[in-house]
Amino acid sequence: MRLSVIGCGYLGAVHAAAMASIGHEVVGIDVDANKIASLSRGEAPFFEPGLQEILTEGIASGRLSFTTDVAAAAGATVHFVGVGTPQQAGGYAADLTYVNAAIDSLLPHLAPGDVVAGKSTVPVGTAADLARRVSGTGATLVWNPEFLREGWAVQDTIDPDRLVVGVPAGAEGEHAAETLREVYHPAVAKGTPFIVTDYATAELVKVSANAFLATKISFINAMAEIAEVTGADVTQLADAIGHDARIGRKFLGAGIGFGGGCLPKDIRAFSARAEELGRGESVNFLREVDAINLRRRERAVQLVVDALDGAVFGKKVAVLGAAFKPHSDDVRDSPALDVAVRLHGLGAHVVVTDPQAIDNARRLHPQLAYEADRDAAIRDADAVIMVTEWDEYRRELSPAHASSLTHGRVVVDGRNGLDAAAWRDAGWSYYGMGRP
Ligand code: NAD
Repeated sequence: MRLSVIGCGYLGAVHAAAMASIGHEVVGIDVDANKIASLSRGEAPFFEPGLQEILTEGIASGRLSFTTDVAAAAGATVHFVGVGTPQQAGGYAADLTYVNAAIDSLLPHLAPGDVVAGKSTVPVGTAADLARRVSGTGATLVWNPEFLREGWAVQDTIDPDRLVVGVPAGAEGEHAAETLREVYHPAVAKGTPFIVTDYATAELVKVSANAFLATKISFINAMAEIAEVTGADVTQLADAIGHDARIGRKFLGAGIGFGGGCLPKDIRAFSARAEELGRGESVNFLREVDAINLRRRERAVQLVVDALDGAVFGKKVAVLGAAFKPHSDDVRDSPALDVAVRLHGLGAHVVVTDPQAIDNARRLHPQLAYEADRDAAIRDADAVIMVTEWDEYRRELSPAHASSLTHGRVVVDGRNGLDAAAWRDAGWSYYGMGRP
């Protein structure tokens, strides 16, 4: 099938390449000329495991191309829209400027029977508004929210755990749902749940899934706060409650909390939309979820300060990690980078290292010092803080090796991912989050 993908960022570039990899003919379209130039050369413009391979393969096969010219969308049967929906400047609501602009630019190139499939995360009610604009062309708008996890995006796109499509009522909607079934044929053939619903439900499935995940993380971080004043160990607590199948251990890792380009802005946009709908109180708890999350960053900073006898001024602090999570170079609202910036603000000589995210981090925070080599970052540091759970830090950095690099013996584990006993045995003062 011929497909177009409007917006080639973390979602769209992966979607375009993944759709080509399952046999479709795909054109990726973006207003960012640099991104398109890179993608056209077959070079992934960001780090995402497996993307480079399917990009190279797609371009070599002739099925995958990229352009800044939206007219290239003409002739495609399905047009996916995956442009950004960031937090509005000065507010909590989602900024829909890019979605509106993308749809407007697409309208002249649509033909009757085409399907426009929104993938961006949008406030409930958006699809119904956009459908009115699209309907004049004879095309059908559907909402097909995306659940990919950065770091696993290729796999999640080709083999998702569920597919959700919000469609208009009647034969038009049924036909559009059938078209999307064909697009996702390998997943559908293997029995992946394919949920056809209305616009509002499809939009809400996405934001409620993110709200739930954020709540689960902040729940365990709230328990970490209680553990800190009682001497309990939140990691053991999470293991113990996680054995209950109704609860489950996933997303119960206490630490410096969530970040990235989705969860923080999505829960805020959900609150803002609920307020507009007169149901603010229904999701008031999301404000608390947000507040708990942000407090954990401050707690990690405080642990470093306390461990260095009350002052970090002039001390060298090695910050292991900048990306908001491992296997990604994404630093949008990264808790790791936020901790680094706060320590820098207190006068510490902060040196940040990360296997993939240094270029992005430097663009955002040029005031920090960066060191690509992990060992050079740790050398002569007074304290080491692990804030992104890369294997390079969690599994591959032995306390004995760290001891050979510095006389500092303070390690703060912002992700509760290090072997506390091993670090203590090697003579380090180990500080976890919500652990004695
Ligand atoms: P991103 O910033 O990486 O990518 C957005 C892209 O859209 C950019 O390349 C930008 O240049 C392009 N763009 C903006 N206006 C355009 C226009 N008028 N025409 C063509 N291109 C345009 O953002 P992202 O992380 O890919 O997220 C995109 C959407 O997907 C958001 O709504 C996000 O919430 C949602 N989402 C993202 C993820 C994720 O893991 N990144 C997962 C699920 C859902």
